[in-house]
Amino acid sequence: MMKLSYQQVNNLIELSFATVDDTLGCDGCLELMDQFAQAELDNTIIPKTLEAVRIHLEQCKCCKDEYEALMIALREVQ
Ligand SMILES: [Zn+2]
Repeated sequence: MMKLSYQQVNNLIELSFATVDDTLGCDGCLELMDQFAQAELDNTIIPKTLEAVRIHLEQCKCCKDEYEALMIALREVQ
């Protein structure tokens, strides 16, 4: 049986995280949400890292509510 080093295992975990659709979970989504909202407001191209936020928002009602509240707040500031 092939023995993997700790580093190799870590690399594999990172790889699988990068390829699964909803990788963020709510914590990760909340962390990136302000960046995502700002990109949306600026009409900039959503980078790959933030695509994951969009994917999560489509699947998670509580984060979507959070996001909509954030967008309202950001629009008021601008
Ligand atoms: Zn969520």
